[in-house]
Amino acid sequence: MNENKGSIAIAGAGIAGLSAALELAARGWTVRISEKAQALSEVGAGLQLAPNAMRHLERLGVAARLAAQAVAPQVLYLMDGRSARPLMAMPLGAKALERWRHPYLVCHRADLQAALLSACRNNPAIDIRLGETLSSSPGDTAFRLGCDGVWSAERDRAGFDKARFSGHVAWRTTLAADALPASFTNALPEARSVSAWLGPDVHFIAYPVKGGDYLNFVAITKGGNPGEVWSKSGDRARLQSAYRGWSPAVRDVIAAAPDWTFWPLFEMTEAHFLAPDQTILLGDASHAVTPFAAQGAAMAIEDAAALAETLDMPDRTAALARFETVRKARIAAVAKRGKLNRFAYHATGPFALGRNMLFALRGADSFLKDLDWLYAYDAVAAMRG
Ligand SMILES: Cc1cc2nc3c(=O)[nH]c(=O)nc-3n(C[C@H](O)[C@H](O)[C@H](O)COP(=O)(O)OP(=O)(O)OC[C@H]3O[C@@H](n4cnc5c(N)ncnc54)[C@H](O)[C@@H]3O)c2cc1C
Repeated sequence: MNENKGSIAIAGAGIAGLSAALELAARGWTVRISEKAQALSEVGAGLQLAPNAMRHLERLGVAARLAAQAVAPQVLYLMDGRSARPLMAMPLGAKALERWRHPYLVCHRADLQAALLSACRNNPAIDIRLGETLSSSPGDTAFRLGCDGVWSAERDRAGFDKARFSGHVAWRTTLAADALPASFTNALPEARSVSAWLGPDVHFIAYPVKGGDYLNFVAITKGGNPGEVWSKSGDRARLQSAYRGWSPAVRDVIAAAPDWTFWPLFEMTEAHFLAPDQTILLGDASHAVTPFAAQGAAMAIEDAAALAETLDMPDRTAALARFETVRKARIAAVAKRGKLNRFAYHATGPFALGRNMLFALRGADSFLKDLDWLYAYDAVAAMRG
């Protein structure tokens, strides 16, 4: 059993807050989480959990709690949205495990949050209070962590810039696996897959959730800012017009879904971790990025693991300064990859032709190799230097 190192107060029981609580409690801290919401609801869509996140979730025992709900896709397809032709097929499944030593999983955000929450509730060093916000006085806590998401009050209190609307919105729906249009299922050689359908200015993502019983669909389009909401009822006709001229494989899914909701994508120009009053920002409160690299949840999980290692170091002031430098560099690299993906996914005209040629010429192995820096990364080892 670890010695009791002191207490830490966390604002937010999202992916960052719950991961941080588990990491810190495992190293001897007593943790209290204040979550503004009265209840943690099923709001949200799917999340991708790449091997760089799974290495920590496995160590924390969360992967086992998630096993029945998460799915290990066997392939990632990049599809031409108009012709429904596969542009590239990158093996995941056993290949991901062999190459990056941890699995590549997809799941519903609510299932990941529930798995983290049940692990926290099982840990006597973690106290979770729903319907509560952190008071601004530090009290007797050694540190306070702002894990309160993209519209963070803790970030605001520290005087850092607010997240700004990116100009894109994410539409979401789910369909039961046995209710999928044939045009969609026939287009994909492997059903347990992530497929990203590419086209001018918009793209469309599909993957299984809920143990494979449902498919999660996310459509990224340009759009107006509806404010700070995670689920706003969307107008199907607007979505249909954004995908005019696309393959029936996608258009039939848009038509078949019972409803579409959407949320605005916000981003921050600069990551900030260290705030006044011994406050540390983690996850989206520190560095919200658009989902083009599918790493939002993974970065929150990495932040938590890196911070727990940092606070165990003998010279904490120096270690925290290093934490900020190391994490900022990592976030910047991921944001850069997201920008590249956005350009490639939404390319038009000659850029789209060039992209398709590149996908055809480069073998899948070269794409796997190109992801080593991202998926083989160990956030704890990176702190040790
Ligand atoms: C309801 C919801 C649905 C989402 N759906 C998706 C999705 O479908 N797909 C996707 O990619 N990402 C989604 N996200 C975002 C995704 O979870 C994050 O980008 C990522 O996981 C980083 O997690 P985070 O813990 O930093 O932030 P979040 O997951 O946003 O968690 C922040 C938490 O802080 C709480 N909070 C906010 N303000 C305060 C306060 N003042 N005091 C205390 N608590 C506070 C919030 O209620 C929330 O529980 C969603 C987030 C939320 C909150």
